[in-house]
Amino acid sequence: MPQTGIQKVDYPVIVIGSGPAGMNAANALAFEGISVLVVDGSAPGGQANTSHSIENILGFPKGISGPELTTLLIQTGLRDGVQYLMPFRANRVRYDEASCIFTIVGEDGESLTCRAIIIATGVQLRLLKAINAAIFYRRGLEYGSPEQHRELWTRMSVGVMGGGNAAAQAAMFLSSCEGTKVHLCVRGESLKDSMSARVIKHLNDAANVDVLLRTEVLETLGDENLNFTGVRVKGPEGERVINMQSLHVHIGAKPHTDWLSGCVELDPKGYVLADSFLPASSWPLKSRPPFERETSHPGIFVAGDARFGHDVHRVQTASSDGVIAGASAYKYLEQACITPQLLEKKTA
Ligand SMILES: Cc1cc2nc3c(=O)[nH]c(=O)nc-3n(C[C@H](O)[C@H](O)[C@H](O)COP(=O)(O)OP(=O)(O)OC[C@H]3O[C@@H](n4cnc5c(N)ncnc54)[C@H](O)[C@@H]3O)c2cc1C
Repeated sequence: MPQTGIQKVDYPVIVIGSGPAGMNAANALAFEGISVLVVDGSAPGGQANTSHSIENILGFPKGISGPELTTLLIQTGLRDGVQYLMPFRANRVRYDEASCIFTIVGEDGESLTCRAIIIATGVQLRLLKAINAAIFYRRGLEYGSPEQHRELWTRMSVGVMGGGNAAAQAAMFLSSCEGTKVHLCVRGESLKDSMSARVIKHLNDAANVDVLLRTEVLETLGDENLNFTGVRVKGPEGERVINMQSLHVHIGAKPHTDWLSGCVELDPKGYVLADSFLPASSWPLKSRPPFERETSHPGIFVAGDARFGHDVHRVQTASSDGVIAGASAYKYLEQACITPQLLEKKTA
């Protein structure tokens, strides 16, 4: 990762997080001639970088591995002058109103300054703690929602693990696939604990959904070729094996936003509120409404999985969100608080 020429002061924009949202935000801005620095607390590429084959991205009919995608995104950024600083884990943000300058302080005390910030710090998925879960990941065990193509899931036995509305939606979608049986494994005593009444009714009305309460997945099972064949669960009646061809795990995710509390408004789960999701009382300016993806702090934007309301956690949705945040940061630089010199590179 080239790290030369990093001045650490007065960037028009610093992007925090180098997953698809952050990279695309940076690339969109750099394409417009804005100098951007991308920082990340660990390796570049975010969650997507850990995937051995991403099959659902426009333009890659054979799929692409996470590391290959990350390399392409970095190469595109380098072409337009994006700079990268890694590892740099942002720990705090300060704002000086007189100069309109943000200071981002890293966990080792090092600081960077800029005029606008894009937060693209993503989430940490909660992983299934079951025997052999890591072995069957992407071989039948998946995190998040199933691909929304019914033909992939017809006439199958499939499982969903989780007790929230996201798990319920996955179960409902799978149950709408012809001839498919769905086993919904929920650790809690009742669906009421975490699902809305309407969703519960849908599940109860679906004849092909078997709701297994107080049920824990203990082990993921497979054959000698490591094809996933099912799970061993423990429920109220003891342990048993359920045969299934795939299991979709929805046991939550935690956004990487603890360090932002007090700086921008977060929802109770830590997702960053922005634009139309901001309560009117949280927006401080009378002169204009927030730009798209702008948080409760003017000049700080958010994109991707860490944003409240960004419910479809995918590479493409995060990428688009990043581009929108980048465009808004550009508008902010033009209209809000910025000296013309910062933009002159665009016309140079
Ligand atoms: C194993 C796996 C496989 C997946 N496969 C697919 C798939 O096939 N198709 C698909 O569409 N989606 C897939 N997804 C989902 C997709 O990868 C995510 O939705 C997407 O990466 C979210 O992008 P993001 O940029 O919002 O956040 P992330 O990708 O989570 O990136 C956030 C980045 O921010 C950094 N960061 C966090 N906090 C800080 C901080 N304080 N300072 C500096 N940096 C910080 C992190 O290190 C990370 O690099 C997969 C996810 C996982 C976990």
